[in-house]
Amino acid sequence: MHLQPCRLCRTIAPLEESHIIPEFFWRIAEERVPKGRSALLQPCLSVMFTDPRKGDIDLKQRGRWDKSVSQEKLLCGACEDRLSSFETHARLQLFGNKDPRTVRKGAFRAEIKTNYAKFRRFELSLLWRASVASAPFYENCKLRQEVGEALRQALLSDTPPPPDLVGCSLLDLRYEDADFTKAIDNPRRLVEPSREIVLLTMGGYYWMFWIRPETPPVGVANTFLQPDGTRPVVQIDGSPLLQFWANAKKKWRPRRDSNPQPPA
Ligand SMILES: [Zn+2]
Repeated sequence: MHLQPCRLCRTIAPLEESHIIPEFFWRIAEERVPKGRSALLQPCLSVMFTDPRKGDIDLKQRGRWDKSVSQEKLLCGACEDRLSSFETHARLQLFGNKDPRTVRKGAFRAEIKTNYAKFRRFELSLLWRASVASAPFYENCKLRQEVGEALRQALLSDTPPPPDLVGCSLLDLRYEDADFTKAIDNPRRLVEPSREIVLLTMGGYYWMFWIRPETPPVGVANTFLQPDGTRPVVQIDGSPLLQFWANAKKKWRPRRDSNPQPPA
């Protein structure tokens, strides 16, 4: 049996094929599309920029994506179970106890009530897993060593992580009847003199991780998960991004100026 160090606890152990983006986000994003000569409806998933250097965008059947985008041997069994428990909590808070493939987000919610310790670790686990994944899909998620180590320790500790350790703003992406639950985009990175943000698109939300500044302005910090478990949700007009996706799906051409920008 091939043993390797677990990326989270560093124990030498047989590692599991961990989902880098939680599996329920992949399931939510699937849609049934006619495929092949028989035009049978098959579960398919759009993922943009599977290799950002090539600018790939495609709609593929389940199992046809490069596996390194979805899974990698990262975690021992105990750490896999640990992160899975945070995922289960987050999925129930965000989408309820439904088959993920049938999820249609309901009325906009300005906040979600969560268990702080679980939901906070879930958020941090999204960024941490993407930061240690080796597929080019995640290359915008690399973290400075001290930041990555702080996230790793926070995920292992039984003490809840502080709200401002790489705070996360959650932005609901929808416009009129459309939303982005059926899309997973490759992670983006916004680097400006005053701020540095890693942006994940999954589950119909932007997950905006504030890498810098370490102490963001109050207006930004107010959008982070609060210690009482209140998870604020910011609504933005999803139409520019929706248009971007629609155009890209028709015929993808790399256009750097069309990268979606989060609100200032
Ligand atoms: Zn482990």
